[in-house]
Order: sequence, then structure tokens, then C-alpha cells
Amino acid sequence: MSLSADAARLAVGMLVGMILPRFPLLFFTRFLNMERELSPHPDPIRVDIPLIQRMLLMRRVHMMCWLIATLPLALGIFVLRNSPEPFALGLVAGVSWFAISRIVPLDIHQGLGVIPLSMVKSINNLREPETECCKNPELQWEVRYVRCKECRRILLDLPRPDLGRIRSDGRMMGSLRILLMDGRSIYPSSKESAVFEGSELLRKVAEEE
Ligand SMILES: [Zn+2]
Repeated sequence: MSLSADAARLAVGMLVGMILPRFPLLFFTRFLNMERELSPHPDPIRVDIPLIQRMLLMRRVHMMCWLIATLPLALGIFVLRNSPEPFALGLVAGVSWFAISRIVPLDIHQGLGVIPLSMVKSINNLREPETECCKNPELQWEVRYVRCKECRRILLDLPRPDLGRIRSDGRMMGSLRILLMDGRSIYPSSKESAVFEGSELLRKVAEEE
């Protein structure tokens, strides 16, 4: 068999290995029409019990991705034990890439996973804050922050991950975005942004002088 055919099979295998585990993320909540108590995408979501429930559900969907990942991995390893098939090698490589992208945290302080339990806890804590920002606080999770609708104060600097709502950018574009970002927000939290790091560095230098 020619080298180019082998390379093509390897590439297709890798693609399948990377996309297949993320299937639950693409379809599970969206096709079951589980919107009910959440505002439609991309509107801000009220910080309330339905949001916490949805975050916990999305954690389960992310766990489901791991389960699905074992299928192409097992198939790839099984085939590779019998014959050096490029497609199978691609499958194993694709699933390994999925695993690495999930295990290595983007933000070490945040915890593991796309929706770590620490994130659910910090949002849940905002439901009953110790000090209120204004007279009629109405907290909602916007794309980049949790902010009060009344006084516009930012209460938590945390970009919103994909929460499984039917996307406003259409099924194709929405699916592509989720595949590329793995359900994470496209915005970095300011703690890990280059601007924040730069300003922190300047502050330290100023303190030392
Ligand atoms: Zn307020």
C-alpha cells in the first residue's frame, strides 16, 4: 500500500479518535431539548438552582465522554495487536490527545476538568452571598463574568463554559466551536491572561523598588 494512503488512514483515524469521545457534548443536552428553565443561548443565565443543576449535569456529560473514549481506544489497541493498521494507530493517538487535553488543566488553581467542582461551588456560593452588592441584587452569568444586572458590579471573574444550551450560532458552527474548545469558554479567565500576568509583574517590580 502506498505511503499517502497510509497517511490518509492515519489522519482519518486520529480525527475519529478525537471527535468520537466528544459526541455526548455535541448532542446530549441539545437534542433532548432540555432548555426549560435556562435562558436561551447566548443570553446571560440567572445564578439560581437550575444553573447549578445544569452545571452538575454537564459534569456528568463530560464524564460520559471518557466512557465513550474507551471504545475507539479498545478497538485501536485490539487491531494493533493483530496488524499494524494506520487507522487503528490514528484512533489510539486521537483518543490519547483527547485524554491529554482533558487531564492537563488550563488553570492549575481551578481544578481538573472543563467544569471542575470548585467552579460549581463558587457559583453556588453566589446564590446566597455574604454581602449584597446592591438593594435588589440579580446575579447572572455573562460570557466573561458573573455580574449583577442591577448595579453592573462584577462578582466573579469567570468565563462561562458551554452549558449544553441549543446554540445561537447554528448546529454546524456551534458543534465546530465545541469540538475545538472542548466546551471551554474561548475567553481566558483574567487570572491566566497575558494582560493580568503583565500587570502583576509590574506591580511586583514596583513593590520591590
Ligand atoms: Zn447589584
